[in-house]
Amino acid sequence: MESIKVANHSGEKASISPDAFERLKSSLRNPILQPGDDGYDKARTIWNAMIDRKPALIVRCSGVSDIRTAVEFARENGVLTAVKGGGHNIAGNAVCDAGMVIDLSLMKSVRIDPFARKAYVEPGATLAELDRETQAFGLATPLGINSTTGVAGLTLGGGFGWLTRKYGMTVDNLIGADVVTADNRFVHASETENQDLFWALRGGGGNFGIVTSFEFKLHEVGPNVFSGLIVYPLSEARSALKKYREFVTKLSNDANVWVVMRKAPPLPFLPTEIHGKEIIAFAVFYAGDQDKGTKELEPVRSFGKTVGEHVGVQPYTGWQSAFDPLLAPGARNYWKSHNFTELSDDAIETALKYVSKLPGEQCEVFFGLLGGAASKPSVDATAYAHRDTQFVMNVHARWENKADDSKCIGWARDIFRDMTPFSSGSVYVNFMPSDETDRVKAAYGPVYDKLVAIKKKYDPSNLFSMNQNIKPA
Ligand SMILES: Cc1cc2nc3c(=O)[nH]c(=O)nc-3n(C[C@H](O)[C@H](O)[C@H](O)COP(=O)(O)OP(=O)(O)OC[C@H]3O[C@@H](n4cnc5c(N)ncnc54)[C@H](O)[C@@H]3O)c2cc1C
Repeated sequence: MESIKVANHSGEKASISPDAFERLKSSLRNPILQPGDDGYDKARTIWNAMIDRKPALIVRCSGVSDIRTAVEFARENGVLTAVKGGGHNIAGNAVCDAGMVIDLSLMKSVRIDPFARKAYVEPGATLAELDRETQAFGLATPLGINSTTGVAGLTLGGGFGWLTRKYGMTVDNLIGADVVTADNRFVHASETENQDLFWALRGGGGNFGIVTSFEFKLHEVGPNVFSGLIVYPLSEARSALKKYREFVTKLSNDANVWVVMRKAPPLPFLPTEIHGKEIIAFAVFYAGDQDKGTKELEPVRSFGKTVGEHVGVQPYTGWQSAFDPLLAPGARNYWKSHNFTELSDDAIETALKYVSKLPGEQCEVFFGLLGGAASKPSVDATAYAHRDTQFVMNVHARWENKADDSKCIGWARDIFRDMTPFSSGSVYVNFMPSDETDRVKAAYGPVYDKLVAIKKKYDPSNLFSMNQNIKPA
């Protein structure tokens, strides 16, 4: 019988008894993947090409029984364990070196109850897969802006996108979850059952167990929405950003406007002479009546003299995937992020200073707009606590060649450092790269101590450590 070595919680390789390994293999629906197996490299590859980890075992789960088998094995043998949903996490927490990956990406079922306006979602579903099913009934729940992202990781960190100002964070729309805990119990968490766990799942990441099903509240959306891009040259950015920050103070919750500054991609609606030049683009979205949306968002077209625009009525699912081509998997990526309650003049000047020296064609700085319904709940209503955040800045360094690593990472770190004095001091946990372990406490903010207490209760030995980790002790 085969004997294998797998990393333990300290990262040291330890032998697993052949009996234990055989029991694991024979209890699972799918073959385990080990180094050298067909499909192993594909299964360990995640969105961010900076992450190149080689797990000893990849357990591809097809159901709750597989998940519990894997958790039991991890518990009994003290195995370093990562949990993979959509594999989009910038820090690479979906995979670990020499340990075991519990890969949920095959579990993609989405069931809609259109009468109760609820969705039941397995943890391998992507945003596109959830939107596709909800939109078949003209319904949706707030999700993110890149349709290949996993519903699981996005939800557990908070989740926000175009609908957030109207319907809140993704976690504000979570009604319940089925969870396999570290002691391998199967429990339901909701406002009435295991309330502490339910609270912690709504922003505390994958620290508390493996969610095997998410239950979401749905709202009428689309199927068509007013949305698109309005683009100005970077020379207009200072004035446009000042108009923008004023404009959004009066914005209705149906509307959302995000800002991205980068080099212009070769989009067909932009003149060729602007391709590759620095631009500022406003991404506009309206969740309600299209005529009202057109009217309310009209001023964005006069923040300056545009170099191009592509705005109109399109399917909601089309807008939800509009940025996918710019965010395809396989590139090297490094992110630095801050939350802001306001965009001061100094913040604008500092951002512009760095956008004028972008280190690559694909590098960008974006500001996502929150507020609206996302600001309504109290700070401790859910584990996601940053209810005062109006703008989320993400410095997204993105490039293809390893030789550019230090140039691109250095640029991101420099702008991040210089923007710090103008930020609120908090950060969105889902935007943190792997080297920000010193920032974890700030990321969970004022609810950190409560999260530690719940971690102690549900995962005292820190079985689930591959995340922005809340240490039980
Ligand atoms: C291109 C891009 C665009 C993005 N845009 C947005 C956006 O608009 N809004 C937004 O809010 N976020 C956005 N994000 C961030 C995104 O929310 C996080 O990357 C999130 O972690 C992705 O979830 P995942 O399931 O794909 O990732 P994974 O890497 O698979 O998982 C992320 C974390 O969640 C844990 N986890 C996954 N599934 C489970 C489960 N079932 N139970 C317990 N733990 C689990 C993992 O162990 C890991 O720690 C974006 C990310 C990318 C790469």
